[in-house]
Amino acid sequence: MESSGERAEARRVKTNAITNNIFWMRHIFCASKARIFLNILMTIIQAVFNFIFDVYIFLIVLDGWQNGDGFWNICRKVGLICLAQIVFLAARNWYESCYVPQSNLRISQYMRKLVSGKMKEIDLLCYDAPEFYDGYIRAMNEVEGRSDAFLASMNSFVNNLFAIFSTSFVIFTIDPAFLAIALIPLFVSFFIGKAQGKTRFACRMETQANEREEAYIRRIFYSKEYAEEMRTTGIARVLIRHFGDIMEGFQRIVRKHGIRMAFYEYLDYMLMDVVVYLGGIVLAIYKAVVTRTVAVSGALVVANTISSVSWSIRSFSDILVEFQEHAMYIGTFMEFLAYEPRINDDRARLSPQEGSRLLTVRNLFYTYPGNAAPALKDICMDIQRGQKIAILGPNGSGKSTLVKLIMRYYEPDSGAIALDGREICEYFVRDYRRMFGTVFQDYRLFAFSVLENLLLKDHIDGEDRRRALHALDLTELRDRIEALESGIDTGLSKEFDEDGAVLSGGEMQRLAVSRLFAGECPYLIVDEPTSALDPLAEYKVFRNILDYCEGRAVIFISHRLSSAVLADRIYYMEDGEVAEVGTHDALLALNGKYAAFWDKQVRLYKEGGHDEEH
Ligand code: ADP
Ligand code: MG
Repeated sequence: MESSGERAEARRVKTNAITNNIFWMRHIFCASKARIFLNILMTIIQAVFNFIFDVYIFLIVLDGWQNGDGFWNICRKVGLICLAQIVFLAARNWYESCYVPQSNLRISQYMRKLVSGKMKEIDLLCYDAPEFYDGYIRAMNEVEGRSDAFLASMNSFVNNLFAIFSTSFVIFTIDPAFLAIALIPLFVSFFIGKAQGKTRFACRMETQANEREEAYIRRIFYSKEYAEEMRTTGIARVLIRHFGDIMEGFQRIVRKHGIRMAFYEYLDYMLMDVVVYLGGIVLAIYKAVVTRTVAVSGALVVANTISSVSWSIRSFSDILVEFQEHAMYIGTFMEFLAYEPRINDDRARLSPQEGSRLLTVRNLFYTYPGNAAPALKDICMDIQRGQKIAILGPNGSGKSTLVKLIMRYYEPDSGAIALDGREICEYFVRDYRRMFGTVFQDYRLFAFSVLENLLLKDHIDGEDRRRALHALDLTELRDRIEALESGIDTGLSKEFDEDGAVLSGGEMQRLAVSRLFAGECPYLIVDEPTSALDPLAEYKVFRNILDYCEGRAVIFISHRLSSAVLADRIYYMEDGEVAEVGTHDALLALNGKYAAFWDKQVRLYKEGGHDEEH
């Protein structure tokens, strides 16, 4: 699972059955303070009652009868026990039906918070690494079921410990030799169970990758984005074929491990039902009949309880194995939480100043992990506040990669990016990224209200609403949005809200662009979000960006040239390099690559084939 490479290295943490389980217990405690205590308390009381009803009550009755205690006396004792049981049952019902569900919610919320907090700071690079996804999915799975399973194991642990001690004591007083027989499974099945747990764990790990792919395919089947392709193309068949392959994979895994599991189980039962049970009975008969060292009644008690003690012992060792299994799963959760982002605040001392003015990029190189060729080569760039910069170039020339480095999503191979003369790693990541208002090529809208989609923040006040409406004005969406059922508070999907709005591709893009106007970020990055707009609408959006974002820096990326004319400076990129720099007029006069690119587009446009990309 832990493949080579730095990332995997960073995530490997020492796992140990005891520390992992304590780690989990500590988190359950933090999430729901009284849970563990109540859990143990309830279990102990339950175990005491079990012992009373299984063993002690008979002693009361039999001893009482032999000692001539009298009918009413015995009845009073039994009645008291029943009364205690009635009170306890009420308490346990409250615990299980009222307390536990609430506590479970608190625990799951707490763990989820841990995971999503971590997700937020995970390096973007991780998203390209399958082992990262596996780790994430494993961590999420742990949140779902592990706490329940863990607490259940704890219950059984306490319960069995009590049962073993109390019943063993009874057997021991009859003859210690019986106890030795009852203890055999403790040693043997511990090892069998351990191997069993390992096999089960290996099985889970192997199915994980398949599950991820299966979840992906299922998502495609019901998600709206793919609905049209699904109907017009043959992709559904491809999906079904993949689905079949995945199922086949599952079967192979189950078949491979199934035989081994069956074998372990068989050994287990042989040991419990044949060795211990027969051994106990034979010894009891021998002692009662041949040596006469044990009374017949004692032999009967042994014959009756040795199996239950053995089963308790057996499940006790099972429980230890369960804890070991928990430890393995908790280990993967801990690994995930222990991930140290490579982009961090280790060297940070500064927050960007209100009036920060200059972003410089010097001799920047960047290569995606696993790629041979660098995506960016020797990039130099100056971006002054108030300037409108265009980055142009064909697809794959490195434009998006460049802005991702500027926003510090990736760490450069070499070269530097600086804000006001200080390297960006000297700024706190969070504060630094806050300076950027962005609309990316693959922008996302959320199934929340228009307002929340615009402002992308919590705690929205009246001033925020006013800004949001103004922003919609600038992208000419205001009338459209205000005509909706609940105006700007309308949800953006029908998924949760019947009256939710469904916007066209162009409207969604304009909404995404409105985010720039609603915020106050000094640097705006606009990475080809306008491809779904007609050229006139695109031009208008750009005009508005330029007019209304006076005093801010605007970096816009496009493969369409109509908007480049408006830029103060154009960086024309090809193959990861800045090929030419200058204003539109200067670059045309240069008659180089940019001019050729321009000519080609003008020609294509005239021929009616505008927008060959995206
Ligand atoms: P542009 O935005 O100019 O179209 P990109 O910056 O997206 O180009 O991509 C530049 C190059 O880097 C392309 O060759 C692309 O295949 C590669 N690339 C982009 N993203 C990744 C990634 N996550 N992993 C590996 N290679 C990538
Ligand atoms: Mg791009």
